[in-house]
Amino acid sequence: MHLRIAHLYPKRMSIYGDRGNVVTLAKRCRWRDVAVSVDEIEAEDALDANRYDLFFFGGGQDQEQDTVAADLARKAEPLREAVANGAAVLAVCGGYQLLGRYYRPAEGDRLDGVGIFDAHTEAGPKRLIGNVVADPAAAGLGTRPLVGFENHSGLTFLGDSAEPLARVRSGFGNNGRDGTEGCLAGRNGAAVGTYLHGSLLPKNPHLADWLIKAALKRRYRNARLAELEDGLELVANERTAERFG
Ligand code: GLN
Repeated sequence: MHLRIAHLYPKRMSIYGDRGNVVTLAKRCRWRDVAVSVDEIEAEDALDANRYDLFFFGGGQDQEQDTVAADLARKAEPLREAVANGAAVLAVCGGYQLLGRYYRPAEGDRLDGVGIFDAHTEAGPKRLIGNVVADPAAAGLGTRPLVGFENHSGLTFLGDSAEPLARVRSGFGNNGRDGTEGCLAGRNGAAVGTYLHGSLLPKNPHLADWLIKAALKRRYRNARLAELEDGLELVANERTAERFG
């Protein structure tokens, strides 16, 4: 098996350790002899979206989102099509906001999003910063909490057809009001939006494997992943959940 990852705008959209998510996905594949390739897609690059099984889109400051949004509009249709055809996505914070319907920053014009997530984002009066512990709401993700770090001014509101990734136990999540964190979309809900930086996946190996499985299923219907020895990862998850939960 071979997993093809596209890392969207790594130069502009990667903060609070976001790049570590791509490293984690690649390592957890290679440890199981699953071949993996990572293509970095910047604004000037063309995107053959149907080539990829998984898209990673990290976070970024408003200024970077403003620059990226202009190019993203040209890549929107192929991205929507790829997700409709079963590609998986992990989009964190600023990337999550730009894959929603729109993001209205505190200053400047509203940024139209790709519309993969049925959600919209408006800048709030203060930044939502801190550690987050949340209980998964996605089928197949089990009950082990998701832990991470958030820092955003945007308040994201889910639309009627949207399912959250998780329910907040501590922290703010999407908007600090409705208790939801993140959003699911796409075929089999394999497109994940979240506010959790950190990086996220090293301390949440259950989500990493969930994404890898969903992404492989696009081309390998009966994809199975061997169990890994996740002692360290799980201790990091539990300690973080105990400390901030
Ligand atoms: N600029 C966006 C906001 O402030 C996203 C920030 C981020 O990616 N951490 O909400």
